[in-house]
Amino acid sequence: MNVCGTCNAIVDTFNETPEKRAVCQKCCSTKRSHDCAGDIKGEGARVFMSLKARMKDPGKPYIEIKNCLDINRDLDKVVEIHQIIDRRNNWYYKKVTDYENGSVIRYANKPLSDHTGHGATKINNVVDCKNYVEAI
Ligand SMILES: [Zn+2]
Repeated sequence: MNVCGTCNAIVDTFNETPEKRAVCQKCCSTKRSHDCAGDIKGEGARVFMSLKARMKDPGKPYIEIKNCLDINRDLDKVVEIHQIIDRRNNWYYKKVTDYENGSVIRYANKPLSDHTGHGATKINNVVDCKNYVEAI
């Protein structure tokens, strides 16, 4: 279901394209609000849903949240990344675990001001997350 991100009215997106979003008939907004729910049944199924969110005032985002799978090139492994960058509260959290065995590869939970010189502090260096579903 496609819902207006401004007024929560249902938006008809049948003729929508990535280049031209449908306009909400109630408030003329092109923002969208997305809800996601799932019910998966089956033995041995393993599901992972990626999330990337930014909340911002005009300018730099004050919170960035990332929950995704990625490939660690150095280890040649799929890793699970949980990261929160909270600029308003000067806090940085990141936990990287091996997707297969759950071992922690990297952990940081510290003031953002102490986290310098890493890729995550560069706004243009956010990893492109992908949805990932694997059946074992
Ligand atoms: Zn609307």
